[in-house]
Amino acid sequence: MNNSRVYNFAAGPSVLPLSVLERAGSEITNYRGSGMSVMEMSHRSKVFMDLFQETQDKLRRLMNIPQDYHILFLQTGASGQFSMIPLNLIGKAGKADYAVTGNFSGLACKEARKYGQISLACDTGDRNHSYIPRQEELKLDRSAGYFYYCANNTIYGTEWNYVPEVGEVPLVCDMSSDILSMPVDVSKFGLIYAGAQKNMAPAGLTVVIIRDGLQGHELPYTPLMMNYKTMIDKDSMYNTPPCWCIYMLGLTLDWVAENDGLEGMKKLRDLRSGMLYDTLENSRLFRLHADRDSRSGMNVTFRTGDEALDAKFVKEAAEAGFVNLKGHRLTGGMRASIYNAMPVEGVEKLCDFIRAFDKAN
Ligand SMILES: *Cc1c(COP(=O)(O)O)cnc(C)c1O
Repeated sequence: MNNSRVYNFAAGPSVLPLSVLERAGSEITNYRGSGMSVMEMSHRSKVFMDLFQETQDKLRRLMNIPQDYHILFLQTGASGQFSMIPLNLIGKAGKADYAVTGNFSGLACKEARKYGQISLACDTGDRNHSYIPRQEELKLDRSAGYFYYCANNTIYGTEWNYVPEVGEVPLVCDMSSDILSMPVDVSKFGLIYAGAQKNMAPAGLTVVIIRDGLQGHELPYTPLMMNYKTMIDKDSMYNTPPCWCIYMLGLTLDWVAENDGLEGMKKLRDLRSGMLYDTLENSRLFRLHADRDSRSGMNVTFRTGDEALDAKFVKEAAEAGFVNLKGHRLTGGMRASIYNAMPVEGVEKLCDFIRAFDKAN
């Protein structure tokens, strides 16, 4: 069964560790002797409540999340946070700063404009989001309600290589596509969130890590289900949480821990992306989308400059077992998403394929 697996470079939903899938498979009809699947059990049952608590604890340990931060397991995707963040956090100041460095931060910014006064800390649209601004280029309002940015731009293949310094203003970060890929100092942030389907679990779960005290200042018309306070007070169980995805997250967290935690993930990430960028840089045909100092360790975007040749590359790669390499329609070309669960061997073989294609064309 397993030798029929492909190397899946999809941007999300994306590859999960094989051992995680196999473990889930082995437990799918009978979880911990309960005689039923996690998919079938009450979210209020002891067996699930234990699983829920253990998963929170594992995440807290792995990311070294301080005790004064709440961990929430929510639904509505990462995009749900585009609304939830301003609804809950903009109230006090009535304004916020947004760093627009790609598609998702652009959408978040657009949504936030419904709820308050938004200033652009930067907008990298002038060069098709191929770079991340330097700290001194950010336009900051020291009285903003929060500063919002997206750590890794999944579509454009750029990533912040520093955490913006914004003083006392709460820092809010979309880490959907690079969470768990390296250590982060959570205490620098007011709120971190991530859709699970890039680097953690199947689609349907959004993890929110929020500093205590930021909740409770929501706009008066904030829907019940979009209020952080509701979810904090009920420990994410106001209603049925995404049980199966939480279970899968727990398995992924075990796998990360077994592989030397976030330090281990960072080493693998540097290895994978280093190989791929080197190979592309040393090719004749391929050009990289992102500026060197802004390159993503998770999503590598590249092209030949000839659409027909790009299509040929994607097609022949798929035939050779490297699938989902077509770029997003906003950037064109190719994108190789190399999340935690992509085996190093998959990138090595892709590099061989790239070199061969480069020679043959
Ligand atoms: C995929 C992605 C999103 C959107 O996620 P959904 O769960 O589909 O809403 C938002 N931000 C980033 C950085 C992403 O990679």
